[in-house]
Amino acid sequence: MAGRHRHAAAPAGTAPGGADTYRNHRQEDHPPGLRVRGRNRKRITPLASGFEVETAPGGTIRTRSVILAVQPHVAAALLEHVDPEASEAAGGILAPPIGVVYLGYRRAQVAHPLDGLGFLSTRDGSRSISGAQFCSTMFEGRAPAGHVSISCYVGGARNPELARLPASDMAHLVHEELSGVLGIKGAPVVSRVRHWARGLPQYNLGHLERRNTLESANDRVPGLILTGNYLHGVSIANCLASARAAAEKAHRLLQERDTPSHQDARPAQKPAGSSRPGQIHRLLRGT
Ligand SMILES: Cc1cc2nc3c(=O)[nH]c(=O)nc-3n(C[C@H](O)[C@H](O)[C@H](O)COP(=O)(O)OP(=O)(O)OC[C@H]3O[C@@H](n4cnc5c(N)ncnc54)[C@H](O)[C@@H]3O)c2cc1C
Repeated sequence: MAGRHRHAAAPAGTAPGGADTYRNHRQEDHPPGLRVRGRNRKRITPLASGFEVETAPGGTIRTRSVILAVQPHVAAALLEHVDPEASEAAGGILAPPIGVVYLGYRRAQVAHPLDGLGFLSTRDGSRSISGAQFCSTMFEGRAPAGHVSISCYVGGARNPELARLPASDMAHLVHEELSGVLGIKGAPVVSRVRHWARGLPQYNLGHLERRNTLESANDRVPGLILTGNYLHGVSIANCLASARAAAEKAHRLLQERDTPSHQDARPAQKPAGSSRPGQIHRLLRGT
């Protein structure tokens, strides 16, 4: 996950500046007339028209549309009393744990030229590493001169138990295996491990039905729109496309509701503190 959106040399779905690049970029790159704000949401309550969103720490937002851009298990919890059907569908999407092992070596330690993006392992069960990215080949600044860096992925749907290994065991396992694949001599000069309790969502049997249920949330609860890597693909490029479609859907919805004919039919509720027309709250933890 890396590379600036406008960086021509970056492979699709990556950003040299890290994942925050996308968050910062998206703040600027939304449909005209919309404002994007980040908050940690704790509870969503549907109103006669719109929603009340309880945020942390201790605030509420009244808004006419909510875009949920969270992981499926979070969506399941937040939607439990808002749209039970969508909640159940989101809750049925599994995201097995994954471990990321980031290793650095002196260039001279590695026989392989690292002249590619990385590799994916086959499913024959002979490897613990499911995939590796040659970070220092892909991006500048990922290793000092004379060194290389490699990110390896362990666990996931194939080997969830491996993702729970203690950091030192996981790093050792990955280094040993990588040494055989890439011809590495000696210990890494840098070793970092990150455990993710939930990794990539799985598009298992029944996913299409679940996705249809999730995408029709707006029909059951007007103004409720979902986006994220559990709908149309897990890559960052897929997520950006899904997010843009969600923002456009919300924009259309708000415009429709602002038309006089719609207002005549359904007088707009305007509770204290409600959003201004055309405003969307995209609620993100820690922003
Ligand atoms: C280890 C790993 C490596 C990957 N590498 C690549 C890669 O190289 N290239 C690529 O294209 N894709 C990669 N992917 C896939 C891609 O990064 C993800 O699918 C994508 O980032 C998911 O985006 P998202 O917006 O759906 O979810 P997330 O990025 O998970 O965003 C969900 C957000 O919701 C927030 N949140 C949670 N609870 C709340 C709450 N109550 N209130 C408010 N906010 C909340 C979370 O903090 C988080 O910021 C990788 C995935 C993994 C797991």
